[in-house]
Formats: sequence, C-alpha cells, structure tokens
Amino acid sequence: MNWKLAARAEKMNPSVLREILKVTERPGIISLAGGLPSPKAFPINAFAEACAEVLHKDGQAALQYGASEGYTPLREAVAAMLPWPVDPAQVLITTGSQQGLDLVAKVLLDPGSRVLVETPTYLGALQAFSPMEPEPVSVASDNEGVVVDDMVAKAQDARFIYLLPNFQNPTGRTMTEERRAAVSAAAAKAGLPIVEDNPYGELWFDSAPALPLTARNPDGCIYLGSFSKVLAPGLRLGFMVAPKAIFPKLLQAKQAADLHSPSFNQRMVHEVMKDGFLSRHVPTIRALYKRQCEAMVAALQREMKGLSVEFVKPAGGMFLWVRLPEGIDTVALLPKAVERGVAFVPGAPFYAGQGDPRTLRLSFVTASVDEIDTAIAALAEVVREQLAH
Ligand code: PMP
Repeated sequence: MNWKLAARAEKMNPSVLREILKVTERPGIISLAGGLPSPKAFPINAFAEACAEVLHKDGQAALQYGASEGYTPLREAVAAMLPWPVDPAQVLITTGSQQGLDLVAKVLLDPGSRVLVETPTYLGALQAFSPMEPEPVSVASDNEGVVVDDMVAKAQDARFIYLLPNFQNPTGRTMTEERRAAVSAAAAKAGLPIVEDNPYGELWFDSAPALPLTARNPDGCIYLGSFSKVLAPGLRLGFMVAPKAIFPKLLQAKQAADLHSPSFNQRMVHEVMKDGFLSRHVPTIRALYKRQCEAMVAALQREMKGLSVEFVKPAGGMFLWVRLPEGIDTVALLPKAVERGVAFVPGAPFYAGQGDPRTLRLSFVTASVDEIDTAIAALAEVVREQLAH
C-alpha cells in the first residue's frame, strides 16, 4: 500500500531522546540520559493497598468510562493542594502533563502561530506543539529564567509563552521571585498568555520555590501539573488548571483525544493521596534526589578539574545542565561516551533555534551515587581525550 502521509506527519521525527534511551538500555551502560524518576521512590505498597481498596469500594465505577473532566474527588484534591485559590471546576485531569501540552497546542496554535519558548526548553513541548505547525520563537534566557525585555519584544501576535519556572528541564534552573514578578507583570501588560509547566516544583532540596506564575494572574495562565514525579510516571496522570474562558475548549479537545484519563488510576491516586500521604512521601524523594545531586556536583568538581566546564548547581528537580569546553560537540561526544559505558543527552535538541553544541543534560536521579561517580569519571576522560585530538 502506498500510504500518503499528512504534511504534519512528514515533519515528525523520532524523538532524539527516545533513540538515545534505546542505546542506554544496553546492559552495562550507566545512563544519565533519561528523565526517569528513581524507581526507588515509587510507593508500591501504598498503591497495592489503594488498588485493593478502590476495587473493593468502588470497583464498578473504577472500571467504567468516566467524565472527561476527570474524577471529581481527584479534581477537588488537586485544587486544594495548589498554593492559590482554585475552583475544582477549572481542573482538568490529563493523561500526563504531556497531554496537557498537546491539548494546549490543539486549542491555541494554527500553522504559523508564534509560540514563545525559553532558550533552551523542554524538547517534549516542542514535539507536542510541532504537529500544529507553529513557529517556535526562542526567547533569550539567563540563569534566572526568561529575559523580560526579549519576551516583550517578541510578544506581539504570539499565542502564548511556554515557561518552566521550577528546576527547568533541561537546565535545572529556577526563576527567582523578582523575575517571576517581572515576567508576570510584563506578560499581563503585553496581553501575552502564559502556559506554565510545573512537573518538578515539589522536588525542591532546601526551600520551596516562589509562587507559580499562574498564582499571580490566574486568568492569563494555563497551569500544567503532574503526578509523574511525586508518585509514578507509569500512571500517566497529570492535570491542567485553565481559566474559565478557555476551559471548555480544552475539555472538548480532551474528549476528542481520549474521552478521559483512566478511571481506575484516578481513583487509585485519589485513594493514595487522601490523608496527606504526599506530605510524608515527597520529602523522601527530595532527600534522595538532593543526595544524588550533591554527589554529581562533587564528582563534576573532582573529575572535571582544570577543564573549563560550566554548570549551575540546581536547587531541586532531576537535571544538571553542563557546558563543556570550547571545541567539544556533545552530539559527536555521545557515541564515545557510550563506548565507555556512560550516556547523557546532548543539549542541542532542546533549542527551538540554533543549539549550543557544547551543552549536555545529566539526570542525577536514576543512577546510584556509585554509578554517578563512575559515570562522571568516564565522561571526564572522554572529554579530555576529545580535547587532546
Ligand atoms: N513537562 C516537562 C517539563 C517534563 O519534563 C515532562 C516529563 N519528562 C513532562 C512535561 C511530561 O510529564 P508527564 O506527561 O509524565 O506528566
């Protein structure tokens, strides 16, 4: 059969990350590449209990179709857990926050629409937006987040700006309070909607980050949240908080996409969460990730000594962004690193525009501290060899 592909399908590429993940599944490779939460942090016993409880108490509804908006008690629990007043009617349960990105794109983007993104930004968002054939526009960003003047200069006719204020994927950076206040005020003044993605916000090490952008101007923002990093990604559950003006359209898009997110998983998450489980569980994840982050920072300082390697220690999340010395191209470096048993993600795919070839993303959560030490030592060796060439 001669399948005639849609123009948008012609443009789709296999995710660079997925391709890399395939390589890293080979035995013997220490992968600092994937964005996988630590399986040690999955609350398996709590889910086993919740699973039995849900089936026993509410089995028929749990196995039945449900409302597209989501399971009401879960929507109420989400609204109650957010740090600004949220009406549960504005909460849409999604199949992961990745689906939130897809729905936002379907509802807000036409071919050629300008969509502003950070430099660099989450690759999965670029992929979710891309089938709508928008024009992604990179906004200059520094260690505190997006640069306000550049955002304002590019705001005209943009459908929205996509921002990750907390422990950003891929850079690990966090937007300061001052920058949040300035971004929020400037976006409101420019009439620029914000899509705020916050899957990592709870994974802080020493202190909670400043209030989300959405809390400052709920009518001008769509907020995306996720249970992937605080419970388990295999549940595929996230949520979206949307202003009343746009909620019905997002709901229609959700209906068309998958009718609703799994009834059973929604009830299990609600069952697990009730009685304050997250406030006991999440601190254990924070402590684990903090330890691993510190191990990676120490290993980088030790192993990369004398090389002009730049990185900023993250205050939470899962990722550390590294800029290697002049002359290194991390795409070319990756196969050499894999030969030595270590995998990372090159930084270039995370840029909507021209990528910085010296950058790479390391995850500090999936590998153990010993593995992190071994992997960073191997990486430093490959970098030194590459520089000697
Ligand atoms: N946004 C960002 C920034 C992410 O890093 C991820 C996961 N890698 C997602 C959204 C999607 O997460 P999920 O669909 O599992 O909620």
